[in-house]
Amino acid sequence: MIIKEREKPFKLLAHEAAIRRVPKNHPKYPEIEKEYFRLHYGYLGEKAMDYFSSFLPHENYKILHGLRIPDTKGRYFQMDSLLITPTHCLILDSKYIKGKLEFDEDTGILIRHHEDSHQRVGDPLAQLARHKIQLSGLIDKLKLPSISIETQVVISHKSATLFKKSPTLLNKIVFHTNLPTRIQAIDHTQKTTRFSAKETNKLVKVLLNRHKDDSTFNLMVYYGLTPSDFIKGVICIKCSHAPMKKYYKKWTCVSCGHTELDPVSRTIKDYPLIGLGNTITNKQFREFVCIPSISIASKFLFTLNLPQKGTNKGRIYYLE
Ligand SMILES: [Zn+2]
Repeated sequence: MIIKEREKPFKLLAHEAAIRRVPKNHPKYPEIEKEYFRLHYGYLGEKAMDYFSSFLPHENYKILHGLRIPDTKGRYFQMDSLLITPTHCLILDSKYIKGKLEFDEDTGILIRHHEDSHQRVGDPLAQLARHKIQLSGLIDKLKLPSISIETQVVISHKSATLFKKSPTLLNKIVFHTNLPTRIQAIDHTQKTTRFSAKETNKLVKVLLNRHKDDSTFNLMVYYGLTPSDFIKGVICIKCSHAPMKKYYKKWTCVSCGHTELDPVSRTIKDYPLIGLGNTITNKQFREFVCIPSISIASKFLFTLNLPQKGTNKGRIYYLE
């Protein structure tokens, strides 16, 4: 059964907001866009992998997607998926990369070949080996019985091909369409029950308690941007023009004529995502949403029903 569903990572949400709010002619835009695509396709690959893992007989597995936890030395590591059974654990690492792929068996590096060049695209085998040590350390520290930890790289792009493949390598790597069969094959090699139901539940509970999304990432600081670099106002979802203007009860795009009743709640979500802060004052709200009137801004802030502290000019609102 799925214990933890996959959620869109904070870093991806932040880059989606930046793609909306950093002007396309900004010198940092290409760098932001490149990272956005890397995160976006990584997430697509994980979702594709989830689809095939959903074919497993679920009662045998406790599945945790996108778990990010600290190891025994406090260093956070993220497993794309972790499957826990009474006999073994299995860590899956998704790679959504198309083209001709080669794994260097000595270094664990993944290389993508182009017609006349090649490009290093990560070291999933080495990364999985690290994650295995980190997870095993946690299990030890919890005084749980030692358990076999298996790992698999899952190639989740349908236009990927592998070459220079040895039998050893093929045991460590699987195409996502074959994932259920591979998981069952691993299952058949594991005969000894290590964890009781109570011990499995203890591990699951501890892992869930320690999970923390990477919401400390601050996009503005990371790319060396300032608040004035971002596009302000309500952005039209049809044509990306900003700011939309409020006429009577509706917001209207002056560029394409699209109208919307309540675009403010979606607009204000971008504020913490791009790194402007987790709290907002009336003044900051007016500047960001492009509303000149203090009283209209107050009404919007009231409608958003945000937790708040302070009074009058000193009032701050907390953004989730
Ligand atoms: Zn528009």
